[in-house]
Amino acid sequence: QITTTTAEWQALDREHHLHPFTDPKVLGEQGVRVFTHADGCYIWDSEGNKILDTMAGLWCVNVGYGRQELVDAASKQMETLPYYNTFFSSSTPTQIQLARRLSEVTPAGLDYIFFANSGSEANDTIIRLVRHFWELQDQPSKNVFIGRTLGYHGSTLAATSLGGMAPMHAMGQSLLPGFEHIMEPHWYRHGQGKTAEEFGLEAARALETKILELGAENVAAFIGEPVQGAGGVIDPPSTYWPEIQRICRKYDILLIADEVICGFGRTGHWFGSDTYGIEPDLMPMAKGLSSGYLPIAAVAMNKRVSDVVNGGGVISHGYTYSGHPVACAVALANIDIIEREGLVEKVREETGPYFRQALQQLADAHPIVGELRGVGLIAGLQLVRDKANREFFPAEEQPAIQCREHCIEENLILRAVGHTMVACPPLTISRAEIDEMIEKTKAALDKTAAAYGLL
Ligand code: PMP
Repeated sequence: QITTTTAEWQALDREHHLHPFTDPKVLGEQGVRVFTHADGCYIWDSEGNKILDTMAGLWCVNVGYGRQELVDAASKQMETLPYYNTFFSSSTPTQIQLARRLSEVTPAGLDYIFFANSGSEANDTIIRLVRHFWELQDQPSKNVFIGRTLGYHGSTLAATSLGGMAPMHAMGQSLLPGFEHIMEPHWYRHGQGKTAEEFGLEAARALETKILELGAENVAAFIGEPVQGAGGVIDPPSTYWPEIQRICRKYDILLIADEVICGFGRTGHWFGSDTYGIEPDLMPMAKGLSSGYLPIAAVAMNKRVSDVVNGGGVISHGYTYSGHPVACAVALANIDIIEREGLVEKVREETGPYFRQALQQLADAHPIVGELRGVGLIAGLQLVRDKANREFFPAEEQPAIQCREHCIEENLILRAVGHTMVACPPLTISRAEIDEMIEKTKAALDKTAAAYGLL
């Protein structure tokens, strides 16, 4: 029985707890919001409010909250073998089973798995493995990574350097050398006067320009999220990924699809790579792999990569909790749920189209929404000052943050990213819950638009 009051939690939190990606001023004034329990798509706060969580925690909880199967899988594994490592020729049954299951659900050819604990770690691992791959083939100069502006690949120093969200995330520090970026493929913002298909080709060809500028002999890999998530849900035009892939092959650059958000059904396929026809050489995944119930991440790689890195002797890289047996057991049970309940097909054929149609109607009718982006069950509503003229809000104004607070007043969680409102609900969301999300989002958008004199 929790007897601590919200004010007491907030006071303790202020005294002892440093929060990532949180404005300390706001935290000081308002105090932290304390969440106590959850079920399905709903989460309860310490004031007893029942809140519709259409961010699935932080893009994680694909199968929804309150899944007894996942609790049972964890407790059974804790009883039999709570922990063992993957170093020095060791393995455990759940690690081996999960590696095999992942090779089945990932795109063809990605049959080899390395385990980590977070998306950031998975991407750090990829940086090291890819450089090792080229060194082992006597091409050590091939060590530069090309990512994209507004790309997000994690929060360690290397993953921050790989991502394209500096200066926002660099905290004024210098990042690592050896990481370059091309423009994000956001047609609505950058493609005025061009068709989406024309713009998609142009945005992809920026990769070729960058490779030629750096020299292909210096470029190790290109990395992109199939749909950019933390950058504001940027789904590229249909021409983009095929052209990126063609360029990577032409110059012998490895292709990495970061599936940390897109993976495990989010886009209406098992992976965003399936949705866009991407055939990556390496693929990091996390979040939906265990639906966030325990921390676990993995890197899948194809035979070309695994043959080389496996043939090069000891890999001096790994984590104490790589392939944690309990997290692996939960991930296996999570994949079983996704399969048994047909969640991937459900997103593709049923809830995804319903969600998009409802959001599109809202976007079309609302004066503060310029564009709906996304695919499957991930969506971004771009807030604009002048819809007719595609005029964006200036950086110093914060309509999305205001809108997020209005959502909370409605007992709804949406995320604010720049000037975009982002929704990414559990894949189990029902039509009635989507209707509830739309109604509450509209109320929050109305209040925001009214504050800017747009309604
Ligand atoms: N890659 C992508 C695409 C992500 O969205 C994230 C996290 N939002 C990461 C990597 C990093 O994952 P983690 O926070 O688990 O380190």
